[in-house]
Amino acid sequence: MDSIFIKQSLCSLIEYFSVDDCEKIKHNATNVNSDLRNKAYSLFENRITSSLYNKELINNINLLFNDLKQQMMSQSSQHRLLVEILHGWWHEWTYVYLMQSKVVTNLPVEIQNVTHLTHGNTQPLRQHELSHYANLFIQVPIPLCNVSMVTGDVIRINQRFVDVFGYTIEDVPTLKVWWQKAYPDPEYREWVLETWQSALEYAKNHATDIQPKHYQVTCKNGQTITMEISGIVIENELLAIFKDATQQIAAEDILRDMAFLDSLTQIANRRRFDEKIVQEFNKAIQNNQPLSILLIDIDFFKNYNDTYGHLAGDECLFQVAQSICSAASETDDFVARYGGEEFVVILPTSQRERARQVAEKIQQELKTLSLPHKFGQTNEITVSIGINTIHSSALKANYIQFLEGADQALYKAKQQGRNSIAYID
Ligand code: GH3
Ligand code: MG
Ligand code: MG
Repeated sequence: MDSIFIKQSLCSLIEYFSVDDCEKIKHNATNVNSDLRNKAYSLFENRITSSLYNKELINNINLLFNDLKQQMMSQSSQHRLLVEILHGWWHEWTYVYLMQSKVVTNLPVEIQNVTHLTHGNTQPLRQHELSHYANLFIQVPIPLCNVSMVTGDVIRINQRFVDVFGYTIEDVPTLKVWWQKAYPDPEYREWVLETWQSALEYAKNHATDIQPKHYQVTCKNGQTITMEISGIVIENELLAIFKDATQQIAAEDILRDMAFLDSLTQIANRRRFDEKIVQEFNKAIQNNQPLSILLIDIDFFKNYNDTYGHLAGDECLFQVAQSICSAASETDDFVARYGGEEFVVILPTSQRERARQVAEKIQQELKTLSLPHKFGQTNEITVSIGINTIHSSALKANYIQFLEGADQALYKAKQQGRNSIAYID
C-alpha cells in the first residue's frame, strides 16, 4: 500500500473528527465502541495490515506518523490530539496483529469473501485449514486448482486463477466443464486430454508429480494464453499448478530468431541456410519437384571497401541484401547471407526459368538502387549470379553436389566478365 495513500486516509480521518472538542475526543478514545475507534481500526485493517508482513512498511508508517505530527503542529489542538491517539493505537494494533499472525500463520492475511473460489457447501473448510493451508492457497500468486479425482469436481481455485483465466468456481464447477471451456476446439481438447491423461498415468506409475507441459488455455474473455501446467496428486485430490509460459515462449522465439539472423544484413544467416537447404533438397526429392538455387557474389567488393571504407561496405551489403529480398519475394523463396559478400537464394518448386527471372530482377533492383562504385564495371554496384536447378532427372545428386554446381556456375559468371548470370550445364 502506498504510504501517500495511507497518509491521505489518516488526514481525512483526523479532519473528520477534529470538529469535536478535545474533551469529546478523549472521551471517544477511551470508549471501545466509539465511532472514532471503529473508523481508525478499519482504516488500519483495510489500508495497512494487508501489507503487514512487509517490515519496511511498518517502519514507514512510524515515519509517516512522525511526519504527520510535524504537519499537525500548525493545526488545532484537536488535530494534534487525534494524531497522538492514532499513533498510539497504531502501535497497539501492529503489536497485536503481529503476535496473532505469529501464532496463526506466517502470512497474516484475512480470508475474505472466498465464495467465488470455494465450493463451500460441498466441501466446507475446517477452521484449521482456513488458517494454514487455505490462506496460502488463496494468496499465492500462482493460479491453482484443486480437483477431486473421485468426483471430478473442482473443490477450490485461488484468486490468481480467477485473475488470470477469468473463471470463478461457478464457471468451472467440474473438471469436465473446465476442459470444455478452456479448450473449446474439440480436436485440440482431445490432444490436451490425451496428453494430460498420459502425464497423470506416468505420475501415478512412477510416484512422481505430473510433469509440466505447455497448453493453450482459452480464458473467459476468449483470449488464449500459453500455460505450463503441472500437478501434484495427493490421495484422491489433484492440485493443478499453472505457470504463464507466454513470455518464456516469446523470449525463446526471439533467441531462436537471433541465432538464425545475420545482424548486419537482417536476413537469415549461414546457419539457417545450412538447415534450410537440407530440408528443401529432401522435400524436392520426396515430392519429385524441381528446386533452384542462386549463388550471388558482389563484384569488385574488395575494391569498394578500399575506396569507400569498411562502414560504407557494410551499408552496401545491407542494401544489396534488401534488393535480393525484394526480387525473391514469393512466399516460399528463401534468402540468406552465405558469407562475406555472398548471398544465396533458394527457390523451392522452381524451374531454371523462374530462377533466371529472379536473377534478372535482382540485377534490375540493383540498377534502380544505383550504388556508385568507381571501380565497378558499370560505375555502380553489380553482382554475379550462378544458378543451379535440380530436376527429377537429377535426383541421384546430393545437396552438396547441388551447391557445388551453383558455385561452378558463379565462377562461370565471374569469368564472363561479372555483372552476369550463368548456369551449370
Ligand atoms: P570479385 O568481383 O571477384 O568477387 O571481387 P571481390 O573484390 O568482390 O572479391 P573478394 O573475395 O576478393 O573480396 C571480397 C571482399 O568482401 C573482401 C572483404 O573485405 C569484403 N567483405 C567480406 N565481408 C565483409 C563485411 O562484412 N563487411 C565489409 N564491409 N566487407 C566485407
Ligand atoms: Mg566473394
Ligand atoms: Mg566479390
